Amino acid sequence: MATEEHSVPETKDVYPLLPLRGLLVFPGMVLHFDVGRPKSVRALEQAVANDHLIVLASQEDGQVDDPSADDLYGIGTLARVKQMLKLPNGTIRVLVEGLKRAVLRAFVSEDDLFTVRVETYDEPEDVVVTPAIEAMRRSVTQQFEQYVRLSRKLDLDTYATVVDMSHPGQFADAVASHLPLKVREKQDILEAFDIEKRLERLLQILSDEREVLELERKIHQRVRKQMERTQKEYYLREQMKAIQRELGDKEGRQAEVDELREKLAAKRMPDDVRDRVEKEIARLERIPPASAEGTVVRNYIDWLLALPWLEAAKSTADIARAERILNEEHYGLDKVKERILEFIAVQALTDKQAGPIICLAGPPGVGKTSLARSIAKSLKRPFVRVSLGGVRDEAEIRGHRRTYIGSMPGRILQGMRQASVVNPVFLLDEIDKMASDFRGDPASAMLEVLDPEQNRAFSDHYIEIPYDLSNVLFITTANNVYQIPAPLRDRMEVIQLSGYTEIEKLHIAREHLLPKQRTAHALKGDRIRISDDVLLEVIRHYTREAGVRQLDRQLAAVCRKVARAVAAGDAKRVTVTSAVLQSYLGPHKYEFGEMETEDQVGVVAGLAWTEMGGDLLLVEVSIVPGSGKLVLTGQLGDVMKESAQTALSYVRSRTRALRLPPDFHEKVDIHIHVPEGAIPKDGPSAGITMATALVSALTHVRVRHDVAMTGEITLRGRVLPIGGLKEKSLAAHRAGIRTIVIPKGNVKDLDEVPDLVKSEVEFVPVSHMDEVLRLALVDNPLDHAGGSLADEPWWADVWSDSRFGGGEAHQ
Ligand code: ADP
Repeated sequence: MATEEHSVPETKDVYPLLPLRGLLVFPGMVLHFDVGRPKSVRALEQAVANDHLIVLASQEDGQVDDPSADDLYGIGTLARVKQMLKLPNGTIRVLVEGLKRAVLRAFVSEDDLFTVRVETYDEPEDVVVTPAIEAMRRSVTQQFEQYVRLSRKLDLDTYATVVDMSHPGQFADAVASHLPLKVREKQDILEAFDIEKRLERLLQILSDEREVLELERKIHQRVRKQMERTQKEYYLREQMKAIQRELGDKEGRQAEVDELREKLAAKRMPDDVRDRVEKEIARLERIPPASAEGTVVRNYIDWLLALPWLEAAKSTADIARAERILNEEHYGLDKVKERILEFIAVQALTDKQAGPIICLAGPPGVGKTSLARSIAKSLKRPFVRVSLGGVRDEAEIRGHRRTYIGSMPGRILQGMRQASVVNPVFLLDEIDKMASDFRGDPASAMLEVLDPEQNRAFSDHYIEIPYDLSNVLFITTANNVYQIPAPLRDRMEVIQLSGYTEIEKLHIAREHLLPKQRTAHALKGDRIRISDDVLLEVIRHYTREAGVRQLDRQLAAVCRKVARAVAAGDAKRVTVTSAVLQSYLGPHKYEFGEMETEDQVGVVAGLAWTEMGGDLLLVEVSIVPGSGKLVLTGQLGDVMKESAQTALSYVRSRTRALRLPPDFHEKVDIHIHVPEGAIPKDGPSAGITMATALVSALTHVRVRHDVAMTGEITLRGRVLPIGGLKEKSLAAHRAGIRTIVIPKGNVKDLDEVPDLVKSEVEFVPVSHMDEVLRLALVDNPLDHAGGSLADEPWWADVWSDSRFGGGEAHQ
């Protein structure tokens, strides 16, 4: 309790003591405070009763209500009570003046009130101001000044009075009393009897305090800046609203933004998408209405709001219903329908796309799109169709980044927007017509779309947020499966639709196309009558196709004419006869059956497969005197040219059996021509046709006009299998051919040929060219051991020796 280090004058006195909470009174300091505790009130009363002197000592802990002697600091201040005022609430307000430091020596009483014996300490009058003291005093003054400036809590007068004090000890006390220090710190200074020490402590505290203030100031500034910014934004926004209002744009951006927020609230979407939309709307809000950036942001928001994220169609997979729909909407196609029903059955068992993607392959107009539509209807899912024909740019699938002007999502997400549910039936039309170039490979993007492992998070450059395509049922179509990029083809199960026979077309026309056209042209009742014969005439003479698209168009044309006649009042109903038909559609466009009408030399009916279906392909060969040139004309591809060479080599290998002069090929020019149409022809399947035509032309034996053939040929005359037998036989049947020579290797494909065709056409399987010649030529040159053939070839005299001259080479 005592401070031993200083010599304190022995003026021992006893005074009442007032414990102070959170407060310390320095000598020389005048202040007032309220007193309420009874012990303290009694101490005060006693002081006033005596000489108004009282000792003020601070509690170490301000929380203690009834302090004991131990709770007080050992050094306090002797003070004079200058005024006392009883307040209405029973407390007393006192005004005191600190006089001098007092060391508490002993407690005389503690119960009713504290009275203590103290040693008081007078500040020495004549202090020796050492350079150290002066230096510290200046520092304190400086720091105090800064403090006053920063804190702005002290008025300048007080400041001036304090710094003017000449006594360094009193000066230090005054500064300390004006600083917002903790009691502990103040006590430290009070206990420093030595002036130098006192100034030193004060300096320390001041510099700490100044640091805190500096920090406070910085924080304050930051907070203020922030406040200013929000205020400024608020102000500007209000101003913008006012301007919009002035310009008559009553709604302005605000109405737009409100509307978008409403839409957002009503829309179901995952949280991350919602966050994104919210952010974009907030961005939009800040963009002035007329700016281009606003349009970009607005478009993006619209897209995010329009795309289906969680909405799903309530899909059912009722097989019986599906079967009914498929049969109602499509004639024939039994195998295809069966396969589709199996597919639907699998869908019924799983929600997601199961198994490989279906690819409906075949020529145009055979019903690929309409089958896909029926699948959607059976599953009760919306149907969307996107054509991939001519897509070369990856961005068409995946979209353009939003930095491009007018950028948009790719076709996949455009389709999804149109579908407006996450589980539509999505038809990717003409997937074989996609091409790749320097702008990236659309096929690889399609791979991501179709791969169930990857399409859960399909990335579109425009949308940016991964989109889940895993609930979509993708169906693809192609004309030529072999043109589909291989990695894509691997994922597909191909269902072939090859084309229809005349009879099937007749059924389709009668049961499906005509009723639809009737409705479209408002021809109710029996306003139009058309017999099967006339329908067949349309099929045979106005269309030439594997599917029924052209047929549909021609029927539409007929219905249009009839509708016009009825509307003009010329007739109540029209019976379309052959004559009427020709007046409507003009003269026949195609001759039914391109089959030649009589047997000829050097003309053979071959069969070709094109993307339009099968076709009859006439091969003509003519021989003229010359020097052994082989001329090929008529849009032939490389493969077909090689076939021609091979056919010629075969014929040369049979020179002796055919009894041709050994050097015949050096004496004549051979011209092979494949007329008809502008379709480029390629493929090896015309090999035996060209060989037959060559033999016919060289031997001058006629070819049966009602026989058609297809098959690849080897140098030794073997006949190899070909593709597209079904389409080819349909074309041959359509052309009126009744015998078709096919490679033995294709017998297994006869299963696919419609029964009608099989019942009317004889298929003759062959494995060697000799068999073909025997069948196709009216008189087999190989069978003649030496007798004469039917006609003398006109070029026979070209050869120096007679054809039958019996040269040893021929025996
Ligand atoms: P694709 O997609 O194969 O080119 P579409 O599906 O567009 O052919 O078919 C063309 C028209 O022919 C459609 O009106 C379709 O309904 C009709 N059609 C095709 N095949 C059949 C069929 N087997 N039964 C009924 N209508 C058919």
